[in-house]
Amino acid sequence: MNTTKTKILVLGGTSEGIQITKAIASAKNLSDTTEIFYSLAGRTNNVPDIPAKVRIGGFSSTNINGVDGLVEYLTEQKIDLLIDATHPFAEQISANATSAANKVGIAVLRLERKAWKMPENSDVLYVPDMAEAASVVARTARRVLLTIGSKDLDAFTAIDKVHFVVRMIEPPKTTSPLDDFEIITGRPPFDLIDEENLMRHHDIDVLVSKASGGAATFSKIQAASNVGARIILIRRPPPPEGEAVEEIAAALEWIKENI
Ligand code: NAP
Repeated sequence: MNTTKTKILVLGGTSEGIQITKAIASAKNLSDTTEIFYSLAGRTNNVPDIPAKVRIGGFSSTNINGVDGLVEYLTEQKIDLLIDATHPFAEQISANATSAANKVGIAVLRLERKAWKMPENSDVLYVPDMAEAASVVARTARRVLLTIGSKDLDAFTAIDKVHFVVRMIEPPKTTSPLDDFEIITGRPPFDLIDEENLMRHHDIDVLVSKASGGAATFSKIQAASNVGARIILIRRPPPPEGEAVEEIAAALEWIKENI
C-alpha cells in the first residue's frame, strides 16, 4: 500500500489561510492523506494554532530571490500542491507563487476573497491607489479612520488639519509619519456594534480601507455606512493568473481533483 501523503503548502497570513488549513485537516479523504505546510511572512508576532507545519519568513535571502527561494523550498520539502491564500493586496508573493509553481511543475490554486457588496445608500468612493485616497482625504475629511496597515502610511504624510485614527493589528515598530494621529490596535474579526461605537466615539467622518473583501472586516464597512461616514476604498490589484476559487468547499474539491 502506498502511504505517501500529498504535501500541500498554504501561503497564508489571512483568515482564509487558516480556514483552508483547518478544512483540509478535517476533510473526509484528505485528513489522512495530506500533510499541510503553512507559510507566514512574519509581519506580526501572531502564530496561529493550526494543524500544519508552520514556517515563518520570506523565501529570499542575500544570494537568492523570492521566486528561486520558493522553488528551492517546494523542491526540498517535496510539495505537491500550492494554495495561495494570501491577502488580495499581497501582490508580490502571489506573483512569486505562480512563477515558482510553474518552474517546479506543480499545480497552484488562488483562494480569492469575495469582494464586499456595499450596503445600500452608503457613500462609497473607489480610488486606484493610496495617493488618490490621500488626495481625497486632504480635500474632504476632518477625522479619518485609517485601516490600511502600516506599509502605506507615507501617502498621508503631507496632510495637516485632519485627525487620523490609525488602526493596526499590533503597535507599530517605527514612528508614524503622520502629523495629527492616534494609534489603536485590534485584530479581526470585528463586531458591528463595536465598530459603530468606535466610529461614533472618534467622530469619524471618513473610513479609508483597501477593498480587501471577506467576512472578517466587513463590519467596518457596514458600521461606516450606519454612522453616515464616507468610505474610501482602494481598488484591488488584478489577481494573479491561473486557477482561482472563492469558497473553501471549492478549494477542497480542487485539491481532491489534483491529488
Ligand atoms: P507582498 O508584498 O506580496 O510580499 C512581500 C514579500 O514578503 C514577499 O516577496 C515574500 O518575501 C514575503 N511574503 C509575503 N507573504 C508571505 C508568506 N505568506 N510566506 C512567506 N513569505 C511571504 O506581501 P505583503 O503585502 O507584505 O503581505 C505579507 C503577508 O501579510 C502576506 O502573507 C499577506 O497574506 C498578509 N497580509 C497582507 C495584507 C496587505 O494589506 N498587504 C493584509 C493582511 C495580511 P520573499 O520574496 O523573501 O519570499
